[in-house]
Amino acid sequence: MSVPKAPNSTRAVHAGGPAVRANHTLTPSIAQTATYTFDNTADLEQYMRGEDPDPEREEYGRYGNPTVRELEQRVTALEGAEDGVAFSSGMAAISTAVLSLVKSGEHVVLFNDCYRRTRQLVRSVLSRFGIEHDVVPAGDLRALEAVLRPTTRLVLSEAPTNPFLYCVDLQKLSEVVKRHGRIRTLVDSTMATPINCRPLDFGVDLVVHSATKYLSGHNDVLGGVAVGAAHLVSLLRDSRGVLGTVLDPHAAFLILRGLKTLGLRVERQNTTALEIAHTLEQHPAVERVFYPLLESHPSYGVARAQMTGGGGIVSFVVRGGGDAASRVVDACRIAKIAPSFGGPETLIEQPALMSYFEASPEELERIGISPALVRLAVGVEETTDLLRDLLEALKTV
Ligand code: PLP
Repeated sequence: MSVPKAPNSTRAVHAGGPAVRANHTLTPSIAQTATYTFDNTADLEQYMRGEDPDPEREEYGRYGNPTVRELEQRVTALEGAEDGVAFSSGMAAISTAVLSLVKSGEHVVLFNDCYRRTRQLVRSVLSRFGIEHDVVPAGDLRALEAVLRPTTRLVLSEAPTNPFLYCVDLQKLSEVVKRHGRIRTLVDSTMATPINCRPLDFGVDLVVHSATKYLSGHNDVLGGVAVGAAHLVSLLRDSRGVLGTVLDPHAAFLILRGLKTLGLRVERQNTTALEIAHTLEQHPAVERVFYPLLESHPSYGVARAQMTGGGGIVSFVVRGGGDAASRVVDACRIAKIAPSFGGPETLIEQPALMSYFEASPEELERIGISPALVRLAVGVEETTDLLRDLLEALKTV
């Protein structure tokens, strides 16, 4: 198994841009345009025939934009991909990718501990179009292999998963899937970031990110990116032009700006989250802690081998049930109650009351979400301040 050697901070700052920009600006301009002009009809015809001398020339805003293109190229470089395409949100990236890769009569497999809206997309939306699916336990490659069919075209995974931070062995996943023919693997690597893990290095076909999270890093913009082999990315780009899941150039600028500090932020969040995870594990008011780099985590070995950091999310079960967990959440002064993660502000939530509020008791039971489970998404505040805040809050238990 090859492990990424170093964080990608230099690429996060520089990759994707031209050597010299128009007017010698240091930072990218926002190409705030909906359309592009042609000098004359011959110029237009040359472009339509695919013979324009400028390969980056655009025709219309839904098909491409230079600021968005710079973002696509930077994330492509960070993930070690051939090409990339940006979208208006993480779900826009995931839904456009899935709709590009499967059709009626085909079959999709996904792991149960993955983003709820991705599960909903597969279960409720794809099923209406005659696309069948199976959901298998997170990281269970035997269970995965058992449900693969001749019509399976896509395996969807996250690494790590949310909220239990389960790390599927990406190399084994790719090997299992490749043994079975024309199946593509799509990994949502939002939680890992290319600083902590690069799934393409392990043979995965496509990587998607909610750029809303760590890539932009400031809780102020929505976006998504997919990267991988050029021929696959090209399918997604064509679908984006039809579905209209296109990223706004100003949002692309904000994500490019946020990316410059990705390495710094993620390294800080890795360190703080690990320290909090260790502290919580010793705390009498905490029943169980989930963090990929805790030896007690079921996928610790895989996480150690394929990640260079454990990420910024720590999930834990508070002793005393849902009410006790709510008291802890309410008593936090620095951590704000909100969904999402990956920004400078530490956020806290009980998944049963937030992302899983509408889930049936059976679904909660199946996925293992108890009301006492708390998800802490670490920001970039001082580690000592965050620890003090949490320890104070745990006194309410
Ligand atoms: N993937 C993961 C792992 C997420 O946590 C989320 C959102 O929380 C998404 C995808 C969707 O991203 P967005 O909110 O940008 O659509």
